[in-house]
Amino acid sequence: EMLRGKRVIVTGASTGIGEQMAYHLARMEAHLLLTARTEAKLQKVVQRCLELGAASARYVSGSMEDTALPAVVVKEAENTWGGLDMLILNHIGFSHFSYFNGDVEHVRKLLETNFLSYVAMTVAALPMLKESEGSIVVVSSIAGKTGIPFAAPYSATKFALDGFFSSLRQEFILDKVNVSITLCILGYINTENAVKAISHVIRHTPAPKEECALEIIKSGALRQRELHYPPWAASSLLVLRTIAPDSLDSLMRSVYHVENIRR
Ligand code: NDP
Repeated sequence: EMLRGKRVIVTGASTGIGEQMAYHLARMEAHLLLTARTEAKLQKVVQRCLELGAASARYVSGSMEDTALPAVVVKEAENTWGGLDMLILNHIGFSHFSYFNGDVEHVRKLLETNFLSYVAMTVAALPMLKESEGSIVVVSSIAGKTGIPFAAPYSATKFALDGFFSSLRQEFILDKVNVSITLCILGYINTENAVKAISHVIRHTPAPKEECALEIIKSGALRQRELHYPPWAASSLLVLRTIAPDSLDSLMRSVYHVENIRR
């Protein structure tokens, strides 16, 4: 109900959680602008969104490594709708799940895709979001709250999101800007790419991407400060981080079949 007719941008919408968010939003009869690199996949997702009942659906394809793309995507929303109600920032660039190999250039690239493009999308969209008193939803990870092994560059980009967007939230409150910021702290989810990357090294069973996608949308619509999903696992890890950080580190190390990690 709350999202019917709303104008929503979803990044990283060609597959995984972003694709599932697009389908939920379509069923809610929202207007959708989707983005990712792979045009053929986006075309299929847009088609499915229209079948599911989206008020409208379109896409812009491109890589968030291209510093011009965030403004292009937001401009498309402005030209098409003349405004924006919700910005869902969800895409991530590829990163190996293994010991950090000292590749500083990879860290720099990943910061561009996973962090700086989120900032640039926000800057470009903010005038429209202020006008609509809309919402920003930032998809992050447990790895953005506590260090996990084998994901140092990825973890760094997710910590950066928390620092930037938590600080921005404070400024919005002081400045009476009525734009909500929701940070989504996710555990292991059964997207194709995540399962391919870590199923052989992790002892846990992943949570369903469809439910995860719906919880993200709900948390944004309800203007929550943070979402923890799966709720019990994510919240208990965060409590443990506060009261016994060394125990949490030890727990995080025990989750993996270290012998299966490729160097
Ligand atoms: P996927 O890898 O399934 O999807 C990533 C999306 O980002 C795809 O649409 C991909 O499309 C797009 N993308 C990749 N590279 C770029 C790029 N350079 N520029 C623009 N778009 C790009 O990710 P998930 O669905 O698994 O994860 C979604 C979010 O959830 C991420 O923020 C992730 O950190 C978070 N998360 C996921 C977890 C999980 O276990 N799945 C756990 C914790 C957090 P294309 O290749 O077409 O560009």
